[in-house]
Amino acid sequence: MDDGHIHRFEGYRVQHSSVRGPAKGGIRFHPQVSLDEVKALATWMTWKCAVVNIPFGGAKGGITCDPKHMSQGELERMTRRYTSAILPLIGPERDIPAPDVYTNSQTMAWIMDTYSMTKGYPIPGVVTGKPISLGGSLGRNEATGRGVFYTIECACEHLHVPLKGATVAVQGFGNAGSIAAQLLHEAGAKVIAVSDSTGCIYNRNGLNIPELIHMKTLCGHVERFPESEEMAPADLLALDCDILIPAALENTLHAENAAPVRARIIAEAANGPLTPAADRILEKKGAFVIPDILCNAGGVTVSYFEWVQDEQHLFWEAQDIYNRLERVMKTAFRDVLKIHLERNVPMRIAANMLGIGRVAEAVQIRGIYP
Ligand code: GLU
Repeated sequence: MDDGHIHRFEGYRVQHSSVRGPAKGGIRFHPQVSLDEVKALATWMTWKCAVVNIPFGGAKGGITCDPKHMSQGELERMTRRYTSAILPLIGPERDIPAPDVYTNSQTMAWIMDTYSMTKGYPIPGVVTGKPISLGGSLGRNEATGRGVFYTIECACEHLHVPLKGATVAVQGFGNAGSIAAQLLHEAGAKVIAVSDSTGCIYNRNGLNIPELIHMKTLCGHVERFPESEEMAPADLLALDCDILIPAALENTLHAENAAPVRARIIAEAANGPLTPAADRILEKKGAFVIPDILCNAGGVTVSYFEWVQDEQHLFWEAQDIYNRLERVMKTAFRDVLKIHLERNVPMRIAANMLGIGRVAEAVQIRGIYP
């Protein structure tokens, strides 16, 4: 550490499946990271990649740490040490990490560099979510939020909810939540409440999202934003709004707080934000849940585009990436909706049926060996 003492961090990399292609999934730096959490997140990655039909399996990594209280130097040393520990497990044809909660393109640059320096030549395809200057893809940074936006567009169309003027509450204002809010704001929706780990703000007439993102980038919080009132983060969930976007961590909607939810559409920008109990409560209320493995799959989809570009050494234009992402997300939404309607099952079950079904088919065709 910067003060000279040695700190021991616990880190994990879990590969859940490589049946349909190399294992794929982000790396999370957070105090709550545990082996069980990483295993669950790796499993979701397998189904997620299958739902959007990209040729990857599922993996996840994490280090139990508090990145908010670490310097850049400490983060770099920890990231490189972790990379060297998981080095035999990863690779462009084997397992490809990416950003997740509290990791970003700089983290990916350190992983790419550590991996490449050890192997002796540059290997950009070992991670996605890299800086553009290292073989990153245009549109990757905004991809999760953009994918969330496309699935909300589809849900609104299906339910005949006009997006223009629709009211939105966003829990968690990180990469996914802030970009989804920004695109909804641009499409004429009113984002009336936003919370992050420091607080929660509200304005019935809609918050100025571009300015809020600007302030969050400068100050690191949403609290004390002009033209907004402070509100208890728990109250955000119970707001009278059309769309609720849980974009923070797992299990934020549970048996104790799901009953007061009034939103018609719940868009799971986070991984696993609803517990099974919350799912049942919201199902009974008639809420339309866009499940995480569909809703937030835009990130890994553009990761796939990045990996393809790296492997081909040929880079695409931003508009090309947006068009391809929109096509992938809207096709996946249609596929899941079809199962939901034809088989009369909740959207989450439908997404699981599609994802698990595709993996099962691949397992069956490959057969079991050795
Ligand atoms: N961490 C993101 C997720 O949970 C992206 C993973 C990736 O791009 O590999 O989907």
